Amino acid sequence: MGVFDLVDTETHESVHFGVDHATGLRSIIAIHDTTLGPALGGTRFYPYESEEDAIVDVLRLAKGMTYKAACAGLDQGGGKGVIIGDPAELRSDELLLAYGRFVESLGGTYITAEDVGTTVRDMVVVSQVTEHVSGLPIESGGSGDPSPATARGVVAALEAVAFHLWGSRDLGGRRIAVKGVGKVGMSLVERLSARGCELVVADINEVATGEAALNFGAKVTSVDDIHAVDCDIFSPCALGAGLNSATIPQLSCSAVAGSANNQLETPHDAIRIKAAGILYAPDFVVNAGGIINIAAARAGYSVDTAKDMIDRVGPNLTAIIGKAQELDIDTHTAAEVVADERIAAARAKRSNNDT
Ligand code: NAD
Repeated sequence: MGVFDLVDTETHESVHFGVDHATGLRSIIAIHDTTLGPALGGTRFYPYESEEDAIVDVLRLAKGMTYKAACAGLDQGGGKGVIIGDPAELRSDELLLAYGRFVESLGGTYITAEDVGTTVRDMVVVSQVTEHVSGLPIESGGSGDPSPATARGVVAALEAVAFHLWGSRDLGGRRIAVKGVGKVGMSLVERLSARGCELVVADINEVATGEAALNFGAKVTSVDDIHAVDCDIFSPCALGAGLNSATIPQLSCSAVAGSANNQLETPHDAIRIKAAGILYAPDFVVNAGGIINIAAARAGYSVDTAKDMIDRVGPNLTAIIGKAQELDIDTHTAAEVVADERIAAARAKRSNNDT
């Protein structure tokens, strides 16, 4: 299959190739949908095994960003960039500047940010040649590390889950199992501890779990068992797909809601979780606090406005749970339906205005 055959023009608006032989830059930017606004999505710097793998990944990730922004209620579309290669070997300021010129050539239809393999510092370099960069450090006029904002959004999601299941947003006394206490997970644990939750944590990093135990009274369990802990809410905040045909039958919680990207191994796992009588809060809805914070920064940052915008993760999730109930479908599919409806409405409004 050739590269052009991999692109479905029914689903993606455009795909762009950025090449600079002098620096070794081989990059692809996919723009999935700009109906709601410019396509925002980070740049992944990764040693893909093949160009085909890179294209498949950038198309998938760009689409995910459209859904994430639409469900978050942002006037933003979805896109993504990838740079092919090992960042440890290939990264140079010259390459990043060439990439920045590539982003600039798209005239603002795509706005980049950091992602796996790229850093905030890389984005500062990119910003020398294009203004279409987000997530810069505060001292460079950006909104800084998105993790606290993401954790705030996860709390709003947990409160919405609590209201749906138990009729009160109060998380006090709830037992919450957090897998992964990194930047988001630790900030979440701190916030939940302040709300009087009973916490269980697991992480491959023992220093991190030690900190969670010492500072926030969390119990520590093994990474192999955390998903099976008897608790009210299981909150995946580590990396990768943890919910699959093997782990879902072992869940012993009423709901799953966490920041980790791509929690489901396959979309069918959302149906499995529903069949098990467990409420699944779609990851891309729960973890939108970071991009909401970036959107707030682009609109002229005010901390209070940003917090209000992030807290809407709760009502956004409630609407998706409602849609899932209305259509008797799983929440992951319901989130996609909500996003598709919002985009279709914006498209219809635009074509009405044009006529
Ligand atoms: P991080 O790297 O700071 O933290 C991840 C933590 O998970 C680390 O402490 C790591 O040791 C741990 N971990 C890795 N593999 C594990 C395993 N198998 N079992 C248990 N723990 C494991 O990353 P982060 O920024 O906190 O992000 C956490 C998740 O949330 C990621 O999936 C990320 O894509 C997603 N996310 C983060 C943000 C953000 O603002 N940082 C925004 C949206 C989504």
